[in-house]
Amino acid sequence: MAASPTSFSGFEVLFSTLQNAADAESTLNVLNILDELLSAGTDNRIDYMIRKGGSEALLNALVNNGCGLSPNYRILLPILYLLAKVGHKDCRIGKKAEEAGAVLLILNLLKNNIQHAKRAAACLLVIQVFATSVSTANLIGSNQGQDVIYKLMPRYTTKNLQTIKASVNAFAALLCSNANICSAVAKGYMVRLLQLYEDWHSKDTEHSAIEIRHALLRCLHKMTHSALGRRTFVSQGGLRLLYHTTQTCLLNKCVESLVEPSVQLMRKCLPKTPLPLTSDHSAYSFPLPGRQYTVCGEAAVSDGSNAEIVEEEEEEEGCQEAASIDYDEDLETDLNKLCLCPEPDRPKELLPQYSRLCPEVLHDFQELDSSSERSSPSSSSSSNDDTGLYNNVALQKKRWSTEVLSKTEKGTPAQAKSAAAILKAKDFDSRNGILNTSSEVGGKREMRGEVKLCPTNDDQDNQEGRSSSYNCAMIDKLIDRHGVFIPYHKPIMYRAAAIKTKSIPGFNILAFPDFWGHVPPPGNEPMAPRKPSVQRQKVFEDIQRFLNTDDMVNQTVFDLEDDSSPDRPDSLRFFSRFECGNLRKAVQVRRYEYDLILNADANCCQHTQWFYFEVSNMVPGVPYRFNVINCEKSNSQFNYGMQPVLYSVRDALNGQPHWLRSGTEICYFRNHFCPVRGSRKTTFYTLTFTITFKNNEDVCYLAYHYPYTYSTLRTHLNLLHRSIDPAKVFFRQQILAATLAGNACPIVTITACPPSKSYKDIHQLRNRPCIVLTSRVHPGESNASWVMKGTLEFLCSSDPVATALRESFIFKIIPILNPDGVINGMNRCDLNKEDLNRQWCKPDPVLCPTIYHTKGLLYYLNSIGRTPLVFCDYHGHSRKKNVFLYGCSVKETLWQSGSAVDTAGLKEDPGYRTIAKALDRIAPAFSFNSCNYMVEKSRSSTARVVVWREMGVLRSYTMESTFNGFDQGIYKGLQTGVGELEEMGLKFCHSLLSLTKDTRVLYGRKLINHVNLDPNILDHKSHNCFEDDEPPCAEDIEYSTECPGLQGSDMESDINRCMANTDEDDNVTAITQMSLRL
Ligand SMILES: [Zn+2]
Repeated sequence: MAASPTSFSGFEVLFSTLQNAADAESTLNVLNILDELLSAGTDNRIDYMIRKGGSEALLNALVNNGCGLSPNYRILLPILYLLAKVGHKDCRIGKKAEEAGAVLLILNLLKNNIQHAKRAAACLLVIQVFATSVSTANLIGSNQGQDVIYKLMPRYTTKNLQTIKASVNAFAALLCSNANICSAVAKGYMVRLLQLYEDWHSKDTEHSAIEIRHALLRCLHKMTHSALGRRTFVSQGGLRLLYHTTQTCLLNKCVESLVEPSVQLMRKCLPKTPLPLTSDHSAYSFPLPGRQYTVCGEAAVSDGSNAEIVEEEEEEEGCQEAASIDYDEDLETDLNKLCLCPEPDRPKELLPQYSRLCPEVLHDFQELDSSSERSSPSSSSSSNDDTGLYNNVALQKKRWSTEVLSKTEKGTPAQAKSAAAILKAKDFDSRNGILNTSSEVGGKREMRGEVKLCPTNDDQDNQEGRSSSYNCAMIDKLIDRHGVFIPYHKPIMYRAAAIKTKSIPGFNILAFPDFWGHVPPPGNEPMAPRKPSVQRQKVFEDIQRFLNTDDMVNQTVFDLEDDSSPDRPDSLRFFSRFECGNLRKAVQVRRYEYDLILNADANCCQHTQWFYFEVSNMVPGVPYRFNVINCEKSNSQFNYGMQPVLYSVRDALNGQPHWLRSGTEICYFRNHFCPVRGSRKTTFYTLTFTITFKNNEDVCYLAYHYPYTYSTLRTHLNLLHRSIDPAKVFFRQQILAATLAGNACPIVTITACPPSKSYKDIHQLRNRPCIVLTSRVHPGESNASWVMKGTLEFLCSSDPVATALRESFIFKIIPILNPDGVINGMNRCDLNKEDLNRQWCKPDPVLCPTIYHTKGLLYYLNSIGRTPLVFCDYHGHSRKKNVFLYGCSVKETLWQSGSAVDTAGLKEDPGYRTIAKALDRIAPAFSFNSCNYMVEKSRSSTARVVVWREMGVLRSYTMESTFNGFDQGIYKGLQTGVGELEEMGLKFCHSLLSLTKDTRVLYGRKLINHVNLDPNILDHKSHNCFEDDEPPCAEDIEYSTECPGLQGSDMESDINRCMANTDEDDNVTAITQMSLRL
């Protein structure tokens, strides 16, 4: 019979007929009609039926017909099937069943029909449906429901499969409550379920009962929701059993679907293992001014207890957990907070000190003609202000050089020459000390306290470095012999800069790549393809650690805090005690596999992501597996084609000094490790990759991304300073502030020298708009430094666009806002454990000096009517591809937040979009569609928002650059190299041409065309970009909640199969006999 459309309104009539039916035949008729209506209809029809009281009517019919001593199963069975069908869609069915008194009734019916497969199956379907409510499940559980159902779960058989499946599903359904899980574990059901699973697995060779095996896995999965359940699973041999059954499943396509749920179950049950450390606290502690010097102890505990909260916080500008935070709620909807500028954070009297950071205003260009730019800055008016910051550097250096010379044993140049000739890559292993800078300067004693900053007296540095040691002479020879030309890099100058860099542990070793330099490799580096099931393979290997301990080595081969571990001839050697290095510990777990633990940010217990370390003593051609086991982010671009970078000293000495994207079998997934003392709920992730080294006797370096050290910046700025034409380019390096550890935070001013000393030209110079650029507030974001390098080099170049920009603007650039973080290999914070990009509202002058003074400079510019035209803070983004901007717009924020504020009357200069539009046209790495102009509450104390709101800078941005690569434009499918990042820095400068209003220089207009800046660029529509823009990962990174592939069976088809089933034996004594005895 076809369902007639009018039947919808007839449901109520049918229900009342069902209620009042006097005889069995009319009841059956109504049930038949209902069944046909539902079979022909859609979910809408069931929903409609539920709204019209369908569940209640069927429950009543069940109670009325099921109570007697010998119920009529001709009527009862159809009622049960219908109830399962309807109840399955009714989210309140459990409660309704309790109210109707149907819960214990159905359990009773089941008990009475253990011998009748078909009736039992119908009851089980209904129980499964009722148990969707926790309280109903508990009610059934507390009345021995599990025991009754378990009797219908026999060992392997080929009979009554529908009934058996229904019983296992019902058993699983009851495990939705903690009480039932606990009682099931207590009653020993874990081991029985494992035995059942093994039995069915081994005997179901035809694979005709895969659904039953799935349902058994579902029971196990639910029982392991509790900690006791997981422990029991492991102690009863669950890991070993599932591991072996899964291995056989791998060989057969038919049972492939059982693999993933089994793997997830094993991952979930791997015992939580504390990291093999003595403390969660960073290996580096730094005493903060005005605070008691406390190490690990309490700090570790309190940090640990915060870990859960911190976990939920977003770590990265502009990147949120799509699942955990609804970004709309984070948008600022308070118009006052969006528009009104708060009170300044400091008195006006403190601002004039920042005039010293405007050397272009103070500079007497009369000196220009005699090219005084190039000479010592102490002669210029600007740096006089800084003399207070400098200490007795000359004296320090003198002491240092004698020290080193006296230590040098093999001093003569002739000897040095011959030594250089035989030096090999392996000699550059940090332990050999070729790159040792050890001296008093930079040593532990000087690591903090009094500021000993050095002026940019590079010639002197250079001399010093060159003459001071045997090593240098030898290295000089090497460079002559093997070096390649690397623009803006000089090893000897690097060494001189590094000696003055102050680190917490007092680094005195240089990492070879930073010292020697590197150039981009020829050719493209495409994203790495992901091998199917690579994660599964890695997880299997991790599980084997528990099952097969024979091949485990478990030797600590490197410990940042303990030098005593002896060199083992057949293990890799690691080292990271150098600038930006941050490997804390390396444990050889198997012959060719190493667990690596990263050092937490100094003074705290977390923020691991960045890594950089040296590795040597490798056997070429052997695949080594590396596992970074204490990563914290919940996903990573390592799952989407990103590779770490590798540098080979041997290759470098052979004229190929390249950081190369390297590694295969890369994946990133949640592991079973937990902190030593912190919250056990803290989750760690493993980044695993395999490297096959190609050279014998090599020394290699591995890093998260292309390193860019603080000493690299100092070297770079000195070389840039030398490269410019002082008659044309005004370039001044000053010190913004000293950091907590006593390092200088450089600020650079770049503009064009005036063409003459006439009033008009000087006036024009002084009235050029300012552009303020900053980067590397987050020390792990080395990509930001490469973008900044591109910007700096372009602005100092003789390119006509650069000339036009210098003539139009004054650039104030702070290339590393967080020197201490960068130097000490930190990822996120400063020495004060704070994310400096959350300190902009009220930066502390003592604890956050670089932010305090950058903001001071901006206040100062504001106070003299020279509010910057553009502010941009360069960052790196670990979870997205391409490069993009975050800006600030009142209107867009209000629109997006659904605020009731009427924006029609609000005036907003749309100029905040100009730069992004320009970049969209000219920068291949740039993604316009990823840009966003929302002001979020959670970002209210970031540079971008504070500079926009408090300083009134319309174009205040965060520029995010990917660590990975590009999924659009001409670079699509490629990973980024330093070349693309530097190009982005250059293109950012190009885009600034779109802001030159000064048509005085028609020249500039021409240039605009030259760089293809169409003034009528289409206004793209930006969209929300706070969600991860990656598709879900190929394999589940997480494993905690519901098991994939175990989402319950398809109830409807189960019911239909049970209804249609004529095979099921009505007498199933056989089943109960075969079930495992309680
Ligand atoms: Zn950042």
